[in-house]
Amino acid sequence: QIGRIAQQLGTPAYLVGGAVRDLFLKRYAPDLDVAVEGDTRMLAEACKAQIHGAHYQFHAQFGTAILEDSQGVALDLAQCRLEHYPAPAALPEVHPGNIHADLARRDFTVNAMAIRLDPQHFGILLDPYDGQADLQAGLLRTLHSRSFLDDPTRILRGLRFATRFQMDLAPECHQQLKQALQADIFTQLSGARLWRELRYLLELEALPVALSLLTAWKLWFLLRPTPPASNTMPTLLQRGQEQIQWLSAQFPEEPLAIFIPMLTLIWQDVTLRDIQHYLDRWPVPDRSQLLADLRVLPGLPDTLLKAKRPSQKANIWQGVSVAGILAAMAIYADNPTLVDSARLYLQVQRRLPSPFNGQELQTLGLKAGPSLGKTLKLLREAQLDGEISNKENAQQWLIKQGILP
Ligand code: ATP
Repeated sequence: QIGRIAQQLGTPAYLVGGAVRDLFLKRYAPDLDVAVEGDTRMLAEACKAQIHGAHYQFHAQFGTAILEDSQGVALDLAQCRLEHYPAPAALPEVHPGNIHADLARRDFTVNAMAIRLDPQHFGILLDPYDGQADLQAGLLRTLHSRSFLDDPTRILRGLRFATRFQMDLAPECHQQLKQALQADIFTQLSGARLWRELRYLLELEALPVALSLLTAWKLWFLLRPTPPASNTMPTLLQRGQEQIQWLSAQFPEEPLAIFIPMLTLIWQDVTLRDIQHYLDRWPVPDRSQLLADLRVLPGLPDTLLKAKRPSQKANIWQGVSVAGILAAMAIYADNPTLVDSARLYLQVQRRLPSPFNGQELQTLGLKAGPSLGKTLKLLREAQLDGEISNKENAQQWLIKQGILP
């Protein structure tokens, strides 16, 4: 219906980008992008008026709209645009354009196809760069020779597509990649934009497979000063992914940014000085915890071995983030004592409800202040070591320790 309404308004609409590519790959397309030769808000409004149950959200900053029908199927509407790069790796200047200009600004031929949505020509493919042929040949081809220089994020996008769809760069694009790297193009890209792309890469399910492309495309420098010395990295990352899956099956509500344990594993043999250099450039969240984890990880088996009581072990784990613990479980997968201790901490120890909270301790006669915090910590340790299990024996224990009269 959107094609009909768009035509009535005189603003033709086309299905574009990944959705068209995924259609030919017979893959499920999570996002349906529609390019409109005209005003997206006007089209969204007309759809709302004419399609039962349709509603939309307009994003004034980008001039885009998300249109959703009563079944929850969503379309991302964006105005066709023409882009011009004022300088290498800079953000483009954007002007309204037609569908041909919109396809010309895209990254790879396989992503530069459009399908007409107007009723008379519904389903007709626009494929000005032979994307369909490249898709069949498994080739990622840029639209012009300066593409990677204009926008080096396309190199990392290419790496992701090559990994996900088992494709390769077209021969001339290997040459373009070499030129872009010789021009040191990534130094001109902002840290925030680079980090965004790296994050997507680290979140890839097929990340262990992407590593061989990082080597082949000579891109390891983006993540670490030198490629990993041994070829154990794919196994390590795969183990990390298994641990993440284990955790999310155990605690589906646990918030975890997948890219942090992955980055921890990629950096586990890199010097902290070199890591700091990367962190200075990227807006990585929780960077001080990440550094603290990386500091602790190498000595972890020894530190845990020295800790005899369950509370001592739990205190060690408490200093490591959940992401760091998952990384430790992957690094020391052949140390069952360590892995069991980590699992016990994640599943049980960190979640033990305290027999008393601060307020209850105050009603028992303890004063507020730092000593209250200390008592709570002692109670927790006694609980972890099996000395107390409920309010009654916790109160007895406090009396025995001379904390309560
Ligand atoms: P998926 O969502 O499955 O990862 P996609 O191709 O839909 O794949 P998006 O990042 O959603 O990926 O981008 C949508 C479309 O926008 C792409 O297919 C491509 O045509 C275009 N595009 C996105 N980023 C760029 C870029 N940096 N340079 C040129 N075109 C781009």
